[in-house]
Amino acid sequence: MSNAAVAAEVKREFPYFTEEHDMIRQTVKRFCREEIAPYAEEWDLAGIFPKELFKKAANLGLFGIRIDPEWGGLGLDWWASAAYMEGMAHSDSGSVNMALMVQSEITLPVLAELGTSEQKDEFLRPAVAGDLIAALGISEPGGGSDVAALKTRARIDGGDLVISGQKLWITNGTRADFIVLAVRTGVEGHKGVSLVLFPTKTKGFTVGKKLKKVGNMASDTAELFFDECRIPQRYILGELNKGFYYVMHNFQGERLAAAILALAGMEKSVRDAMNYGAERTAFGNPIGHYQVWRHRFAELLTGIEAGKWLTYRALDLLNHGQKCVREVTMAKLFTSELSQKVSYDCMQIFGGFGYTTEYPIGRTWRDVRLNTIGAGTSEIMKEIIAKEEKI
Ligand SMILES: Cc1cc2nc3c(=O)[nH]c(=O)nc-3n(C[C@H](O)[C@H](O)[C@H](O)COP(=O)(O)OP(=O)(O)OC[C@H]3O[C@@H](n4cnc5c(N)ncnc54)[C@H](O)[C@@H]3O)c2cc1C
Repeated sequence: MSNAAVAAEVKREFPYFTEEHDMIRQTVKRFCREEIAPYAEEWDLAGIFPKELFKKAANLGLFGIRIDPEWGGLGLDWWASAAYMEGMAHSDSGSVNMALMVQSEITLPVLAELGTSEQKDEFLRPAVAGDLIAALGISEPGGGSDVAALKTRARIDGGDLVISGQKLWITNGTRADFIVLAVRTGVEGHKGVSLVLFPTKTKGFTVGKKLKKVGNMASDTAELFFDECRIPQRYILGELNKGFYYVMHNFQGERLAAAILALAGMEKSVRDAMNYGAERTAFGNPIGHYQVWRHRFAELLTGIEAGKWLTYRALDLLNHGQKCVREVTMAKLFTSELSQKVSYDCMQIFGGFGYTTEYPIGRTWRDVRLNTIGAGTSEIMKEIIAKEEKI
């Protein structure tokens, strides 16, 4: 093949996005602009967004993008999910994005993968339809990074499991109908953990306080208590004592989603900042025309581009069911760290307005701080990469 022919074949876009994906992206963008962004500030002040948003998102098919149509899903792939998450950048609300992702990317995929037909009928189908809200219950007051050390215990009693313990930091925790819950059913360490489906109407379950946070303020993050809660053994998800492996496997989708969302949010912030820089003048010129800003945006966009290719590469591997722990972890680490710089720099060009809630950037700056903590901290990402690289 000649050099000219090779050049003609190179596409600027990542090759797997199609017109159908762009339609998903545009539909979600419209949903965000009409139903979320105008209210993001109001919901932050209220400390919660309306529950009806789950149903509205479900009506667009957002909770079932990769779920089999048998359970009400669309049966599409990870590229379609990426298009959905990229559209979500226009919500200007880390809170709503996080709450919806817990449903679509963090709880329902594990249920779809491991659940029995009965479990899917009872939990998955109504959750895809937005009639049930799901939460993921792993972290505890004693620690979130060290999953193998969790203490919430489930003892087998006849045909039941009896659960006692406490969870902390649980997103959607105050209004979840069920929790994909990690409990200790066996020995200490990673070999004694199981996943169960826990209906929150179970006797002995209580929601403690809703935590006050510095960002993602419209998302409910709760402390949960389990006092001798009795659930049938048929609610065990997958095999007993295999929960740690399921959690680690599920983290790949969660971390990939976190990277995609971080990238889309960064791109939105830079575009907003460039628009502001084109309109605001100082010393007789639009501030965005000063070289310091043109170079800063060039640098940020270069980082975003690099993050995209790493993330899309990780997505491609996951989409093909290939080993991708290294790539997903690197993508999560790189994008969550970069988002700190991007939000800081973009806030700067807004001057005093950046420090108010007049523009979305102030909220974004607060919300993205979570990126290096949630879904596994940056330190844990580095630990995983070091192990993968046998350092
Ligand atoms: C807003 C919000 C929403 C959340 N939603 C959920 C949810 O829905 N479900 C859920 O289960 N959890 C959720 N979490 C919990 C989140 O996953 C944990 O906060 C996170 O995993 C860190 O755990 P930790 O807070 O216990 O910190 P710790 O594990 O106590 O870590 C504290 C610090 O020590 C560092 N550290 C730990 N181990 C090492 C090591 N080996 N080497 C070097 N440094 C180390 C960490 O990186 C961190 O900087 C949420 C948290 C927040 C803030």
